[in-house]
Amino acid sequence: MTILHHPSDETLAAFAAGNLDHGRHVVVAAHIELCSHCQVWQSALEHMAGAMLFDCPPVSLSVGAFGRTLAQLDAPEVTAMQLDEIHRTEALPSALRGQLLGKWSWIGRGIHHRPVGPTAETGARVFMLKVDPGIQLPNHTHTGTEFTLVLSGAFSHAGGRFGPGDIEEADDQVEHVPVVDAGEACICLVAMDGKLKLLGSMGRMLQPFVRF
Ligand SMILES: [Zn+2]
Repeated sequence: MTILHHPSDETLAAFAAGNLDHGRHVVVAAHIELCSHCQVWQSALEHMAGAMLFDCPPVSLSVGAFGRTLAQLDAPEVTAMQLDEIHRTEALPSALRGQLLGKWSWIGRGIHHRPVGPTAETGARVFMLKVDPGIQLPNHTHTGTEFTLVLSGAFSHAGGRFGPGDIEEADDQVEHVPVVDAGEACICLVAMDGKLKLLGSMGRMLQPFVRF
C-alpha cells in the first residue's frame, strides 16, 4: 500500500494529545493503523507528550470526573448480534472494532451510506460511503470539516488522487468534485461535522434529500 496523503502535523499532534473529537479520532486512528510513516510520527509525539507531562504542575480533576469514569464502565456493551455484524465485515481497520455499523442505504445514483457508531451530540459524525466505479459525486463543500479515509478503491479531484490508506482533510474553503476510478467501487470512512452543501443546479435539486 503506497500512501501519499497523510493527516496534517496539527491533526497528528491533536490526536496524540487526545484533543480530537470521537469521529475524527476514529478516522485518524484507522489511517495510522495503515500507515507506517504516521506510526513513527505518532510514537515520537507520544514520547514528547509523555516527557512534557513531567514538567506540568498537577491540576485537580473536574467535578464529577470520577463518577463519569465509573458510569462509562457500566455502559451497555455491544450486543452479540451487533458484534456478529462487525465480524462479518471484512478488511476493516481495527479502529472500527466495537463500533456499531449500521445498514448500507442508497442515497443517490451509485452511492450508498452506512452510519458508524452512535450519533454524537457534538463533534464529527462518522459514516462509510460506497461509491460505484466511475461515479462523479456532486460538486460540494461543507460548513465544517470533513476527514475522508479511503479503505478500498480510489477517487480523484483537483487535489490529487486518493487510494487505499490516503486521508483527506477538507474544510469549508474546499470545493471538490471527486470522481471514483473505473473498475472498482470506492469505500471510504468519513468524519464530518457541519453540513454538506451541494453546489450547482443538480446539487440544489438533491440538497433536500441529503440527510447525512
Ligand atoms: Zn500517514
